[in-house]
Amino acid sequence: MEMELLKERIRRDGKVKPGNVLKVDQFLNHQMDTDLFMEIGREFKRRFSDVEVNKILTIEASGIGIACVAAQSFHVPVVFAKKTQTKNIAGDVYTTRVESFTHGRIYDVIVSKEYLGPGDKVLLIDDFLANGKALEGLIDLVKEAGAELVGAGIVIEKGFQIGGDIIRKKGVRLESLAIVESMDAETGKIVFRDEIPQL
Ligand code: 5GP
Repeated sequence: MEMELLKERIRRDGKVKPGNVLKVDQFLNHQMDTDLFMEIGREFKRRFSDVEVNKILTIEASGIGIACVAAQSFHVPVVFAKKTQTKNIAGDVYTTRVESFTHGRIYDVIVSKEYLGPGDKVLLIDDFLANGKALEGLIDLVKEAGAELVGAGIVIEKGFQIGGDIIRKKGVRLESLAIVESMDAETGKIVFRDEIPQL
């Protein structure tokens, strides 16, 4: 089940841009509707109510807001992976590389060993899932840390891109609150996965 309130908001305020980009600056990526964020956080909590989570991990910058509000439903701290352009990172950190969908750049991404380690039960949260690079990077960091990956919560999955398949094939429990199956930059039309009749 996709989240109706979220889908309505995407339909109303989302803007389809060329290059498979959905702009949701009105409520998620620039201006942030924190009441909607609360509902999203509660929905993640409902979906992951059967598992133990002691930490939420996200990636800067756009995941931080949603992860923080979601964390209030889980009562756990949020750690965000930091993007850095420093090649030789000093100190006790886990590192991986992530190719950014929106900027087309490759970033080194780090998390301090102080804030993630064996014994942690980690839920990943991010705003979008496109080609899966951001989530793959976060999964790498969880593995490096020897922590347990409980699942991943995504606000908007673009179902026509490969990320969802890649992450599900890894056996990761992935919960996406809205799955855009197709979108058209010319007409602005957005079709969600659960609106497509199943055969
Ligand atoms: P991926 O790593 O799965 O290819 O892309 C996910 C990341 O790219 C997310 O963290 C998100 O910030 C950004 N992103 C990917 N697609 C979109 C999109 O259509 N709209 C927006 N606003 N961000 C996107």
